[in-house]
Amino acid sequence: MPLTDQQAQELRRMVEARRNALLGELREDAARTREQPYAEHAGSAPDAGDESVATLIADLEQADVTRDLDEFRALEAARERLKEGGYGVCADCGNDIGYERLKAFPAALRCVRCQDRHEKTYGGTPKPSL
Ligand SMILES: [Zn+2]
Repeated sequence: MPLTDQQAQELRRMVEARRNALLGELREDAARTREQPYAEHAGSAPDAGDESVATLIADLEQADVTRDLDEFRALEAARERLKEGGYGVCADCGNDIGYERLKAFPAALRCVRCQDRHEKTYGGTPKPSL
């Protein structure tokens, strides 16, 4: 069932709100990175132990930002589809994604069935082939 205007508007608000919240987080991340450059974690005379902890922290921060960036890009793409058309339509099979799924994942690009297939094909745990 296609989205009603009211449902589309509600989802648009959710996408905007999530995007703005995420943008704030990304800005904070960037500000924190600028305030605490790598050298300060390691100290002025780092020994090997200090340095590996500093590397770990740097890696964790990097991973966080990457995940946020991925979600941010997905939300930007969803905004584009809301504007240009195609929002709520599965990118793979062209069927309606469904209001309930979009409410849970406003940036969803595929219906549940295609997302399942996509994850089994391109990611997740490898299945034993018989
Ligand atoms: Zn589909």
